[in-house]
Amino acid sequence: MLLDVVAEIDRSIPVIFLDTGKLFAETIAYRDEVVAHLGLTDIRIVKPDPVQIEARDPEGILWYWDPDSCCALRKVEPLPSAIREFDAVISGRKRYHGAMRSELSLFEAVDGHIKTDPIASWTKEQVMARFESRQLPRHPLVAQGYPSIGCEPCTSRVAEGGDVRAGRWAGKMKTECGIHLQNGMGI
Ligand code: SF4
Repeated sequence: MLLDVVAEIDRSIPVIFLDTGKLFAETIAYRDEVVAHLGLTDIRIVKPDPVQIEARDPEGILWYWDPDSCCALRKVEPLPSAIREFDAVISGRKRYHGAMRSELSLFEAVDGHIKTDPIASWTKEQVMARFESRQLPRHPLVAQGYPSIGCEPCTSRVAEGGDVRAGRWAGKMKTECGIHLQNGMGI
């Protein structure tokens, strides 16, 4: 939905897609569908360093034993070099997702960048209304009970009416991957 807003302004704004190597196949297909639907022209696919993957997670099961280290390897570490050239970064987080996101600021200064969450105050109803009015494609897993979708090993279905992010790292203490920083904390 945020990408639709961006594309209305400028379809050539760079969009960073972080491919951890653990995403659902449906997510990769949805990315391609969204890019084609919106006519985005500058998608930058960022991946973890294969040398680091081989050294620290050669069997690909670090997520099971130590999800914080897995997120560091596959998400947190690849991102800085991808955004280094930009003065500002736009993120699509929403306060209604709850937990630490309920305190989101519209603007913050992070590692030399201005970071903004322009739809932080949007309600779920407003987001859904925009999907409807703009006839935007939906991630196919939403209809299968996944309201928030991350890496496949760490994403579960959520019961009808459940918390939006309850399916992320379900059963673990972890609630955020750490690529977002606010007030010095990874969210
Ligand atoms: S969400 Fe899970 S699989 Fe993805 S990087 Fe984090 S721990 Fe690893």
